[in-house]
Amino acid sequence: MNKYLPYLALTGLLVAACSPNESVLDEQPSAIMVDQYQFNENYASYLETLSSDEFEGRAPASEGERKTVEFVESKFREWGLQPYDAENNNYQQQVPLVRILPTQVSSMQFDSDDLGEFAYRSQMYAWSPRVQESVSLEDSELVFVGFGIVAPEYGWNDYEGLDVEGKTVVMLVNDPGYDTRDSEVFNGYAMTYYGRWTYKLEEAARQGAAAAFIIHDTGPAGYGWSVVAGGSPMRFDLARENKNMDRVQVEGWLTKDSADKLFASIGSSYDEMRQAALAPDFKPVSLNTHMSITINSKFDYLNSPNLIGYIEGKSKPEEHVIYMAHWDHLGVDPINPDDGIFNGAQDNASGTAGVMALAEFFASQPQPERTIVFILVTAEERGLLGSDWYAEHPMLPLGKAVGGINMDVLNVYGPMRDVVVVGYGNSEMEDYLVKYATLQDRYITAEPNPEVGSFYRSDHFNLAKRGVPMLYAKGGNDHVEFGLEYGEKMRAEYVRNAYHQPADEFDPDWDFRGIQQDLWLFYSIGNELANSDVWPNWRAGNEFRAIRDQSASERQ
Ligand SMILES: [Zn+2]
Repeated sequence: MNKYLPYLALTGLLVAACSPNESVLDEQPSAIMVDQYQFNENYASYLETLSSDEFEGRAPASEGERKTVEFVESKFREWGLQPYDAENNNYQQQVPLVRILPTQVSSMQFDSDDLGEFAYRSQMYAWSPRVQESVSLEDSELVFVGFGIVAPEYGWNDYEGLDVEGKTVVMLVNDPGYDTRDSEVFNGYAMTYYGRWTYKLEEAARQGAAAAFIIHDTGPAGYGWSVVAGGSPMRFDLARENKNMDRVQVEGWLTKDSADKLFASIGSSYDEMRQAALAPDFKPVSLNTHMSITINSKFDYLNSPNLIGYIEGKSKPEEHVIYMAHWDHLGVDPINPDDGIFNGAQDNASGTAGVMALAEFFASQPQPERTIVFILVTAEERGLLGSDWYAEHPMLPLGKAVGGINMDVLNVYGPMRDVVVVGYGNSEMEDYLVKYATLQDRYITAEPNPEVGSFYRSDHFNLAKRGVPMLYAKGGNDHVEFGLEYGEKMRAEYVRNAYHQPADEFDPDWDFRGIQQDLWLFYSIGNELANSDVWPNWRAGNEFRAIRDQSASERQ
């Protein structure tokens, strides 16, 4: 394939309203020529600047943050993007954060002598999500609630008929589709949102439980116990007005061995109970024991901004398309500051530079009919916090969001024949992706490990769970010149040698043609959405469709 083969980009002359599928299939591209490998020649310099040592690994509330903000704002201003904060003429949406450091976590003590106690870190891991100096539970009854899922669209309710007030719920990780591998059960082997531990803790709070513990199991969790219980217990959260008093008092994990001990006390085992929980008519089971635990924490508060610029739509300014990426990374290693800068070149200077390159390009084009919002969020590495804050405080109503594209760790290894979709099959955004990827002679693949739930682990998810159809895709591994093995090898080396390490640094030998391809793709999708009347949705059966449908009247 000729590497300078030109491709067509749409300039915004479109499009009659019709269903997304029809518009995708019928339309002929028109207008300007863009070389797919030369979408924006400034891209590499943005990436290089953001990931330079001078930017100190872009930790929230650091000198690196100040430089990042200054750099992005100067470019947004130069391109004439409208500022989020018009009053103060800046692009900052301040995100209030709280840093929570547990100073003491007791063991988990039981009222039955057989069980004794579970030690912190080796047998259980616990924290309090509440911003409260001391949290103490006394003699809270333990109840096993299966997978801890309430999913009306799958006809599933693990809490049915149960009053959990004052109780501690214990539940399994992942969802029943993981075990059954039956495509009729949830989403089969691919994890749904209901399989994520974060969902399970939220649901336990909605049900009114006092505490919630998830049983760790490496297979269905997708990572080992050390990921759960190793490392610093320091946590970050949004500094909400309610101090998270709507969350359960204590959250945490139990090892599989600990779970086996609990189940043995009622004459069962982990394996047996996991099997029982797969039955759609499973009923919660009391573990006939009570536990006590105390957690003391201290707090401090900081602010860090999301950076938001936009191009206002000519005829439908409330309707908007979203591009997002997180600007933050891990900062500097406090123990070894000299050569411990976490530059985060791929993660995620690559995505930040991508949003900037798109903003620059759109700003040079005719004004779109709908608004285009460019959001660079903070504190992704602290738990997707900046995007969560944006989703709670959006610039425009989320019911009027047409759809969005998230960029996190773009492909620096050269042009690829494939585009990987994380969370493949979720939404009609994929129809647009297929259309433009086909124009590039590329094919779509699903992520290789859908059971670990990567779709729920980057920023787009906070908008997805509020109903906005979000696409998370990137160049895959099938290298145009060197084939699949080469791409897989480069990707594996990155994960092993550089991901979340100081070695994630800018490399002048990187081949940016792959990112240029992807930027053209993301541009073309957004450009079509911003100049049409279409409203993509989640596909039937997807867990976010009902939420999207609730805001349907806003889109009429
Ligand atoms: Zn990232």
